[in-house]
Amino acid sequence: MQGFRALPSVDQVLLSEMGRALVDSHGRAAVTGALRARLDAARDAIREGADGGAEAARLPHLLAADLAAAAQSKLRPMLNLTGTVLHTNLGRAILADAAIRAASAAMAAPLALEFDLGTGGRGQRDDHLRGLLCELTGAEDATIVNNNAAAVLIALNTFGQGRQAIVSRGELIEIGGAFRMPDIMARAGVHLVEVGTTNRTHPRDYEDAITPDTGLILKVHTSNYRIEGFTAEVPAPALARIAKKAGVVLLNDLGSGSLVDLAAYGLRREPTVAEAVAEGADLVTFSGDKLLGGPQAGFVVGRRDLIAQINRNPLKRAVRLDKIRIAALEATLRLYRDPDRLAERLPTLRWLSRPQADIAAQAARLAPQVAPLLAPHGFDAGATDCASQIGSGSLPTETIPSAGLRLTGKGGDAPDRLAASLRALPCPVVGHIRDGALILDLRCLDRDEDLLGALAAL
Ligand SMILES: *Cc1c(COP(=O)(O)O)cnc(C)c1O
Repeated sequence: MQGFRALPSVDQVLLSEMGRALVDSHGRAAVTGALRARLDAARDAIREGADGGAEAARLPHLLAADLAAAAQSKLRPMLNLTGTVLHTNLGRAILADAAIRAASAAMAAPLALEFDLGTGGRGQRDDHLRGLLCELTGAEDATIVNNNAAAVLIALNTFGQGRQAIVSRGELIEIGGAFRMPDIMARAGVHLVEVGTTNRTHPRDYEDAITPDTGLILKVHTSNYRIEGFTAEVPAPALARIAKKAGVVLLNDLGSGSLVDLAAYGLRREPTVAEAVAEGADLVTFSGDKLLGGPQAGFVVGRRDLIAQINRNPLKRAVRLDKIRIAALEATLRLYRDPDRLAERLPTLRWLSRPQADIAAQAARLAPQVAPLLAPHGFDAGATDCASQIGSGSLPTETIPSAGLRLTGKGGDAPDRLAASLRALPCPVVGHIRDGALILDLRCLDRDEDLLGALAAL
C-alpha cells in the first residue's frame, strides 16, 4: 500500500539487469521514452487510487511488451490465404527468385544503370528492358514508368494536353482508390469526350466525335467489371482503322495485360499485350505487378515515334523507375523467354495454375495438424472447398476452384475474433470470412510448415 514512492526512477530501471538487456536490444533512447510513458501512466493510476507497489510490479513486463510491439514492423512477411492471388492491399505480385536476387544485387552494389559498359559513355535506364519488352510484345519500342496509372497519365498528357480524347461511356472506369479515368484525364490536361452509352458504343459514335481538336482515342479494358446482356463495343482493330484514318493516336489501356495466353494454364483468356499490339493500337499500357508477376511498374509499348515523344515529356523524369525495380523487371521478363518453365518460376502463374486436387490434398493433410493448435483457444479446423480469384481487376467475375481450411468456433463473433488473433501473430495470417467461418484458402501456401509455424505462436 504505497504511493508514488513505490515507483522506480528512470535511472534505477536503466541500470537494472532487465533495463540493460532492453537497452541492448532496443537502444537507450527507445527504452527511456517507453519507460517515461509507462511511469506517467503508473502515476496517473496511483492518483486514481491504484496501489503503487502493484504498479511497480507490473512495470517491467509492460515496458518489455511496449518495446517489443514498437520494434515489430507492420511490413513484416505474412501469409496471404485470402484466395485473392494478386491482392492489391497485400502488395500484389510476389517476385520470382531470380527477380529477388537481381533486386538485392542492385541494392548492394553500383550497376550500369545509365552507363554504357561498351563505350564508357552515357546509357539509358529503359534500355535494359526495351529489347525484352519489344521481343515479348511485338511492339516497336517501349517506355517504363512507376505504375500503369502513370503510364496512362503520361500517354494522355503527351498526346492529349489541351486537346480532346474520345472514350466510350462503357469504359469510364474507376480502378479503386482514386484512379478514375475522367479524373486522370482532367489532370493530364485532356478534354474528355464521352461517346456511346453505358452498354452500347458503335463505330459511328467515334467517327462522329472526331474533330480537328481530337488528340487521341482511348480504349480501356474494363478490368474490374463486365457489362453483360444487350451490349456492343467497337473491337480494337476497327477502332485502329478509325484512328488511323483520322490521324489520331489509339491508346489501349489493358490494365493487367498478360504476356502469355492464360488459357494455356487452365484459366479463362485475358487479352495479351501482343494481341493488343497486333490489333493495331498505336500504344498499349499495362502493369508490372498484376498478371505479369513482377514489381510495381507501368509500361507503354507501341510506335517508336510516339514512344520517343513520351520520353521527351518532362513528366517522364517524375514517374521514372528506380534501379531496384529495373533489375527485378529485367530478371522477371527474362523468365518469359522460357515459357515451358515459366509457371514453375513465376509465383503468380504457379499459384494461378495450381490444380484444385493439389490444394485439396494439402487441405486434407493440414486440417488434422491445425486443429490441435486451435483447440486450446476454442476453435476447430476442417478441410473445405472454396473459390479463389485472380485479383487486381483480372477476370473479375471468374473464380478458380480451390480448397482450404474452414475454421469455426462458438458464438457469432467467433470468425472475427479468430481473424483478429491471426492478424496479430508474429507472422500474420489473413483469410476471408464466409458463412460464419474463417476460410484459409491454401492456393498461395507453398510450404505447410509456414502455416503451422505461424499458428504455433497463437
Ligand atoms: C490496374 C489498372 C490501372 C492502374 O494500374 P496500376 O499499375 O495499379 O497503376 C489502370 N488501368 C486499368 C484498366 C487497370 O486495370
